[in-house]
Amino acid sequence: MKRQTFIKLAGLTGISTLFGMKGLSALQKYSESLSYSPRMPVLFLGHGSPMNAIEENQFVKGFREIGKTIPKPNAIICISAHWYTRGTKVTAMEMPKTIHDFGGFPKALFDVQYPAEGNPELATEVQSLITSTPVDLDHDWGLDHGAWSVIKHLYPDADIPVIQMSIDYTKDPAYHFNLAKQLNELRDKGILIIGSGNIVHNLRMVDFANMDKDDYGYDWALEARNTINGYLLDGNYNPLLNYQKESRALQLAIPTPDHYLPLIYTLGLRQGDEEQLLFNDKMLAGSLSMTSVRIG
Ligand code: ZN
Repeated sequence: MKRQTFIKLAGLTGISTLFGMKGLSALQKYSESLSYSPRMPVLFLGHGSPMNAIEENQFVKGFREIGKTIPKPNAIICISAHWYTRGTKVTAMEMPKTIHDFGGFPKALFDVQYPAEGNPELATEVQSLITSTPVDLDHDWGLDHGAWSVIKHLYPDADIPVIQMSIDYTKDPAYHFNLAKQLNELRDKGILIIGSGNIVHNLRMVDFANMDKDDYGYDWALEARNTINGYLLDGNYNPLLNYQKESRALQLAIPTPDHYLPLIYTLGLRQGDEEQLLFNDKMLAGSLSMTSVRIG
């Protein structure tokens, strides 16, 4: 039992009866009445092409499988590469709309709706937990494809409320790493925090002719993936926060930080020596990686 819970219980039942049979059964009853919220893991999901929302492939299977390994959350907070703002915002509407924030894809993709509810109370809680910067409650955004194209595979029934938190594009990785830490206690309240981006993500260099080739990456992309995976699994996060001082391979892998920073949020939420599991760890079309991470 946690000390705080014990103190609460002692206050409820009175210390004198707490250790008698009567007290013990009262304690038991009270404990059982508390809703059980196991500590939630944290995810980073490499989302890749929006088409993953409607295609059947190994990555989609990976999302589905990882969903089965974690307790059903009370709500989700998603930090998506595709909500990149000045300052930090959190969606606070009752029913976030499904945003189709892309062009040139088939109608079937534009037809996808992910009707998960929002959670204005959770948005307010996020706002109060983050003390290092003001957080704006947003009523205009919704769920962008960085969120819904992957969350729909974990929770196809859209029965878990989802809110999004934006990424302040004026700040460096260390700032985001520390911002994430302020959300840590939500993991004990059944909140699943998901970073959604791509670690190796150079769209200008995508080899469209080899989109279907399994685990195909350019030499520099493979080097970047291996370097980053090594730092990550060693828990050596400093080079990941200072990636701009790293090799040319990493500069090619992360030409802009938007898809990389969601990983930094996920890492910021790791506590102690929590387990780190890589999945969907494959290269795609030369210059992308689908590497995803479960922490805890
Ligand atoms: Zn993206």
